[in-house]
Amino acid sequence: MNRYKINEVFQSIQGEGALTGVPSIFVRIQGCPVGCPWCDTKHTWDINPDDERSADDVMAEQGESSHWFQSSFDELMALFAREGYTAKNVILTGGEPCMFDLTELSSQLIARGYGVSIETSGTFEVLTHPDTWVTVSPKVNMKGGYDILDSALARANEIKHPVAMERHVDELKALLTRLPEGAAPLIYLQPISQQARATELAIKHCIENNWRLSLQTHKFIGIE
Ligand code: SF4
Repeated sequence: MNRYKINEVFQSIQGEGALTGVPSIFVRIQGCPVGCPWCDTKHTWDINPDDERSADDVMAEQGESSHWFQSSFDELMALFAREGYTAKNVILTGGEPCMFDLTELSSQLIARGYGVSIETSGTFEVLTHPDTWVTVSPKVNMKGGYDILDSALARANEIKHPVAMERHVDELKALLTRLPEGAAPLIYLQPISQQARATELAIKHCIENNWRLSLQTHKFIGIE
């Protein structure tokens, strides 16, 4: 029986990409070695044994924390029930959830009637149930030194590329040449940190290339 290291669990509305607006339970898995400088979840990077807490302690915390708890699938289902969650979509996020094999967890969730989506940087192989919606948000040339994997690009249902400068668009175009024949993921540009210049740039390139714009709508309306 697998156990997962979880930083936080909460219910909200997906604010980004193709599933924007979908009520979802977010399961944030601890651990990420990718090292993006603008990362807004740096507290998830390290899996420090001293930061392990009980699920109750972690769920009672307010705000960001590097604390995490271990959970089996059954314990996670019990937590969903205790919290009274009603959303039927589960988003496995991080951190970098694809550091771990998520096949069993995603399969168990799907067997219980949940939709499952994963948000990954594309730097690890995506091991998940075939019906999982996979969002690859490629993190190119980050200080962790991980390359974007062809297998992750090929598995993507959507590619949601963070942009702030022209070179980020060039990086995306280079990645798209690596897609296998017939692959047609949805392509989104997402301005980094809601900067006005990044948003302008994203709009321009979305229109030019018939890509889609992803705004982190949850940040505009002040929800998690
Ligand atoms: S891959 Fe995601 S969690 Fe990891 S450093 Fe980059 S933005 Fe942060």
